[in-house]
Amino acid sequence: MSNIIRQLFVLLSFLVLFAGVTQAENNRGRWHVYDIGGVQYVKLSDVWRFYRFSPRQGREGYVSYGSANRTISVRPERQDFYVNNFRYILSFPIRRDGDELLISAIDMKKLVDPVLRPRFSQRAGVVRTVVLDPGHGGHDAGAVSEWAREKDCNLSLALKVKARLERHGFRVVMTRSTDVFLTLGERVEIANRTPDCIFVSIHHNSGRRAAEGIETFTLAPQGTTSPFARTRRNADLDGNDQDSENIALATAIHSRAIRSTGATDRGIQRARFSVLCTIKRPAVLFEGGFVSNPTEGRKISSRAYQNKLAESICDGIINYCQIVGGHPNGLRPRTQRRSPVGGSSINGNSTYRGTTRL
Ligand SMILES: [Zn+2]
Repeated sequence: MSNIIRQLFVLLSFLVLFAGVTQAENNRGRWHVYDIGGVQYVKLSDVWRFYRFSPRQGREGYVSYGSANRTISVRPERQDFYVNNFRYILSFPIRRDGDELLISAIDMKKLVDPVLRPRFSQRAGVVRTVVLDPGHGGHDAGAVSEWAREKDCNLSLALKVKARLERHGFRVVMTRSTDVFLTLGERVEIANRTPDCIFVSIHHNSGRRAAEGIETFTLAPQGTTSPFARTRRNADLDGNDQDSENIALATAIHSRAIRSTGATDRGIQRARFSVLCTIKRPAVLFEGGFVSNPTEGRKISSRAYQNKLAESICDGIINYCQIVGGHPNGLRPRTQRRSPVGGSSINGNSTYRGTTRL
């Protein structure tokens, strides 16, 4: 494809992406599209203009823009990206062109917009069931240290989440509720045959002794790399049908877990883990901390810390469900539908309370 045709094509995709916005919003100006190494980029100044964002006091060393209730912070050549101080890992680094900063069109479409304006909510409907998937089990212990054994932490945390969700009127399906082994395919199969559900896989991490913190994974969008596979993959996976829901669910759970525990924020990251690829339901994989870290390893095997984490995961799930269309008790968003970050309570950040314009 020639450059001009490709740019027209991307511009067209953007018009489709923003087809739902009002005429006034369309009239805010045109999108300037760049091609850098085969990746389509747009100017961040166009993004700021689109959301009516202005310069903000943000993270040190970062460029920050936002509105009264949300702030986005970026850095040139970096993939970390903050919305209201919660960390995301972009699929492609922020680029620079003279004075202009550029963000990939895929990140704009698959991360920024669904987080700021969850328009997918019209499609997602009521969530009646939560499938909780405690990772590993049986002969597969997962990560093991002298402080904790992953398969046990995964199960006890998941059972605590289950109890809380049931008190809130959800039906909960456990992929395992005892110390047994299931294949990854069996776990996905349970979710795929359960209607009106979301899928939350619960794991704990292992790494260098100093490594610590919480991270949440969602499926990498079509046409991107992921930290575990540096080549771009163009296959459209079943899980990609829920890209918008995935990132909103991750935002809801991750931000609350970070806020309630004060753990290091390792970010919402992309991956092509087996359970995320073939699933036909909104899905995330939550990593609740490092068994290999002496301090964190002790914490994640303690009942008090597990209670705190379970509470925040449950809160995140409830919040996600309220945003996408209610939960089984008929709870509805109090005013209008809200964004998963700014202005909503979905990231649990009281500094940014208020109602967003949707
Ligand atoms: Zn694991």
